[in-house]
Amino acid sequence: MPTLTNPLRPALLAAARSERIERTITHSKLTRRLVTKFVPGASEDAAIEAVKALVNSGRFISVDFLGEDISDASEADQTVAAYLSLLDAYAALGIEPVAGAQPLEVSIKLSALGQSLPGGEELALTNARIICAAADRAGSWVNVDAEDHTTTDSTLRIVRELRQEFPSVATVLQAYLHRTEDDCRDLAGPGSRIRLCKGAYKEPAEVAYQSKEDVTASYLRCLRILMEGQGYPMVASHDPQIISSAQAYAIAAGRDASKFEIQMLYGIRDAEQSQLINDGLHVRTYLPFGNDWYGYFMRRLAERPANLVFFLRALVGR
Ligand code: FAD
Repeated sequence: MPTLTNPLRPALLAAARSERIERTITHSKLTRRLVTKFVPGASEDAAIEAVKALVNSGRFISVDFLGEDISDASEADQTVAAYLSLLDAYAALGIEPVAGAQPLEVSIKLSALGQSLPGGEELALTNARIICAAADRAGSWVNVDAEDHTTTDSTLRIVRELRQEFPSVATVLQAYLHRTEDDCRDLAGPGSRIRLCKGAYKEPAEVAYQSKEDVTASYLRCLRILMEGQGYPMVASHDPQIISSAQAYAIAAGRDASKFEIQMLYGIRDAEQSQLINDGLHVRTYLPFGNDWYGYFMRRLAERPANLVFFLRALVGR
């Protein structure tokens, strides 16, 4: 009998899109305190301090300036400016590549660069190009995050365009989508960098697996394709079954530890992240910063009932 994911997940993911609930939650001082478990701060300085600590602990990082679903092009300009400033700060850190990998990366969301506005694909591509050029100068990689399934085709078109000019640009494939095994086959070629995750949005059964077992099984099929391919797989998961399978598949495919990486989110399974580094693996921590943390935070609550209990207890002061 397949296990359903967290029964509150659909409600939390719907709340992640609700402006009214967003207003209520973001005005609570208490929520802000809890958010720091997943988001080290609102300012670039806070993000850079966290980056330094993580790099000193042997981790690679990918920083996301929080923001999605903008309503006009000037907001996209602000996002671009935030990334350019962050990349200047990266350059000042003077961090060198490790075994062919860049320890520093930025993760961008095309929705924050204008993708859903009229003429948005072109606008998002133009904005992403500006960030990629600055990242090249700063010695940073760029990853294009995956959002809900209605954006997948457009995102992959933009990534293909970007890779003509900036071949190291990576993107994300979501194992819960039925299409993803085929996308993995298409994108497992030489030089490609693919982050594989389970997927964090509320998707209908027509396009996505719904049970935990089906999503994990799809993840493992996709992971095997990427490991047997010629690119650089990035295994974004906290799931112990997936982490151990990744290591087994890498060995079977003749990859050494520098030819793939494990990725986890800031504040989640921190001790395991350190243990994996001690085991000789490359581990990249995804580190979000900025004021616009609401959607990101709600998706983290939706992933794990224990986070919700922790959050509700704090709200009622127990
Ligand atoms: P799960 O089965 O959800 O979790 C396995 C175990 O990990 C849990 O039992 C628990 O111990 C721990 N765990 C998982 N989540 C949490 C949590 N929130 N709090 C505390 N413990 C937890 N999704 C997208 O749709 N697009 C993206 O671009 C994207 N980028 C990502 C980048 C990174 C680096 C990571 C790690 C995830 C990203 N995700 C993205 C989110 C991803 O799709 C999943 O929603 C998320 O990683 C949970 O799936 P899991 O594989 O960790 O397994």
